[in-house]
Amino acid sequence: MDRQQEFVLRTVEERDIRFIRLWFTDVLGMLKSVAIAPAELESAFTEGIGFDGSAIEGLTRVYEADMIARPDPTTFQVLPWRGEHHGTARMFCDILTPDGEPSLADSRNVLKRALAKASDQGFTFYTHPEVEFYLFEPPKADGPLVPIDHGGYFDHVARTQGHDFRRAAITMLESMGISVEFSHHEAGPGQNEIDLRYADALTTADNLMTFRTVIKEVALEQGVFASFMPKPLADQPGSGMHTHFSLFEGDRNAFHEPGAQYDLSKTARHFIAGLLVHAAEITAVTNQHVNSYKRLWGGAEAPSYVCWGHNNRSALVRVPMYKPGKGNSSRVEYRALDTAANPYLAFALTLAAGLKGIEEGYELPEATDDDVWELTDAERRALGIKPLPQTLDDAISLMEKSELVAETLGEHVFDFVLKNKRQEWQGYSQQVTPFEIKRLLQVL
Ligand code: GLN
Ligand code: MG
Ligand code: MG
Ligand code: MG
Repeated sequence: MDRQQEFVLRTVEERDIRFIRLWFTDVLGMLKSVAIAPAELESAFTEGIGFDGSAIEGLTRVYEADMIARPDPTTFQVLPWRGEHHGTARMFCDILTPDGEPSLADSRNVLKRALAKASDQGFTFYTHPEVEFYLFEPPKADGPLVPIDHGGYFDHVARTQGHDFRRAAITMLESMGISVEFSHHEAGPGQNEIDLRYADALTTADNLMTFRTVIKEVALEQGVFASFMPKPLADQPGSGMHTHFSLFEGDRNAFHEPGAQYDLSKTARHFIAGLLVHAAEITAVTNQHVNSYKRLWGGAEAPSYVCWGHNNRSALVRVPMYKPGKGNSSRVEYRALDTAANPYLAFALTLAAGLKGIEEGYELPEATDDDVWELTDAERRALGIKPLPQTLDDAISLMEKSELVAETLGEHVFDFVLKNKRQEWQGYSQQVTPFEIKRLLQVL
């Protein structure tokens, strides 16, 4: 038993915790949970808890169904919405094979491997996500989606649930040790944004899994319905998860170089170049659903083209305005991501793309100042600006050929994602949609 584990045991006793939930994430990014009694905690730490992995998406093949979940004591938190008396706490788990080896299907482990590679080169990877989501009235079967307000970007929406919602959600997040930096109403009706303070990427990915759960809980409490679906309303902006990246060497931000263009170091320039070169092939993971592409190609400040710029909101990678004297805040914003991605896999791939740029010394093309949506195809071609994949089908074809993605995810996760996404695309392609009926049924 190490000190962290002993701390957990003591807290469980002192805080009257009755259930300990062991959390982990399947390959598609869905949260899984199994509750144990306090008496089981000690053996959970030493041996782990066995479970049938074959029932979990992507976790294992049937013939190696027994898997072990071992809780990470540093992630222990009491769940505030379960009350003080006979409370509930949770820990994130690492998934192991029966021989005690890290499971090749554990996405938390995929990210750990990518972070270890960065660490071998002296880097810590920090991430700061801006999470957007919609609040709707509880949906009725087959009824239209009704946003809870008519607010727009940065609107102060008085006397509706939206304002209190963010306050309640942020209070709950902070009581679980998740710091929030900004929050505001977003451009769509009922659309909100909450930005988490930067943290190392593993902590951020864990925090995002908690975040989605907290938002759903608060919504239930307030009688509204929250959704992270990338494009729930065809004629309104989608919900993205722009994420700011930086690499640190010890205490020093390796992206910062005073006096250089936008104060960006060579490391930062190669990192951005890596993101641009590999963006298209990682999109099936960063934007994993058919619906994700409706956001990417639906305008409203979602990126559709692979380019970078300083404060350019039509670019895939944006270098935010630099605040003089704040060298440690140098960072790059990757705007494709949506919250429906598995954050462990998405961070592993964006990091791998950036690191590849550093390793290979990729040259960064010129920044784009134009609004790239306004250019013609020919103008974009002349500038060497390529599109992101237009559909999940395009994205799968590009991922299939990617050595970077295969190597970073490992063969098992790589094959599973491809297979699952092909099924999603096939299921979608076979639909006869209201669009087709409306357009064709009467006139033909
Ligand atoms: N909702 C937009 C997107 O999908 C972002 C809007 C913004 O934050 N500027 O990416
Ligand atoms: Mg924002
Ligand atoms: Mg936003
Ligand atoms: Mg942003």
